[in-house]
Amino acid sequence: MHVLVTGGAGYIGSVTGALLLDEGHSVTVFDNLELGHRAAIDTRAALMVGDLRNADAIDRAIAETRPDAVMHFAADALVGESMAQPERYFGNNVAGGLNLAAAMLRHGVRRIVLSSTCATYGEPERLPITEDSAQRPTNPYGESKLMLERALDWYRRLHGLHVVSLRYFNACGAAGGRGEDHSPETHLIPILLQVALGQREQACIHGDDYPTPDGSCIRDYIHVSDLARAHLLALTTPASGAFNLGTGSGFSVKQVLAAARAVTGHPIPASVGPRRPGDPPVLVAAADKARQVLGWTPQITAIEDIIASAWEWHRAHPDGYGG
Ligand code: UDP
Repeated sequence: MHVLVTGGAGYIGSVTGALLLDEGHSVTVFDNLELGHRAAIDTRAALMVGDLRNADAIDRAIAETRPDAVMHFAADALVGESMAQPERYFGNNVAGGLNLAAAMLRHGVRRIVLSSTCATYGEPERLPITEDSAQRPTNPYGESKLMLERALDWYRRLHGLHVVSLRYFNACGAAGGRGEDHSPETHLIPILLQVALGQREQACIHGDDYPTPDGSCIRDYIHVSDLARAHLLALTTPASGAFNLGTGSGFSVKQVLAAARAVTGHPIPASVGPRRPGDPPVLVAAADKARQVLGWTPQITAIEDIIASAWEWHRAHPDGYGG
């Protein structure tokens, strides 16, 4: 298939693009290169530099490339930033996503795999979180993804668009020479590894007064190569709808810190700071639906293995992709 990958210069999009190519698909990346990295894009992929907020740009890209399917990764994805700049999130993630969907419908592209998020659930009533749990986001990031999920679901019902929404839990790790390089970095594992590399003095635990066994937030960390494989399965599944992508096991910030210390052999000093606005205490996936319907099984589930893959990448790329 020919797949248009929006956000294909980003972390998960670039890993998935490379896997698509390995599996014999062809790839056009559509990316504004604001947060992504040209160097992350597989050399076998075509690149169109453009911004989804520009309706004409994405319309032209779809008209010219006529893809069989779209994988839509391009988005802002930081909980904390979304609390400070909600308009950025609704503009880029919702309005940009709607421009993409409208262009697809106009040009007869009938299939989309959407990068969605566990942040659409907000504070879950029950754990682990199933796909039919109430969706009540606690931050504009989750709300923006939920709004796009809902709009696409109406396009599915009314226009027959085939939509698979993949609700990622915490993406992490590195694969095939591609890793996490955000500027500024806000994600837990890269920050811990930057301390281990001597690039930061210490890490900060964002709150240890949550209602969890050790007081720090619990997340379900899922390896980026497992996320990429789920996209390949989503590309051809006859099923539509939403799928959680997580391992089903949660680790607290303090447990991740301990694992990072063990993997790196570095003491990684850390202090406890205030809670980060918008953070729910526990997010852990029930991923049975993806297993049963997509036939997806996460392969790299031990937190030490996930951190080891990231550590290898960060040591080889101490400056990330180099700007
Ligand atoms: N976190 C932390 N210190 C940091 C970065 C993150 O304690 O320097 C916590 C954060 O509050 C959350 C968890 O680690 O509970 C995972 O955060 P991350 O930003 O990696 O992913 P998110 O859950 O926002 O997608």
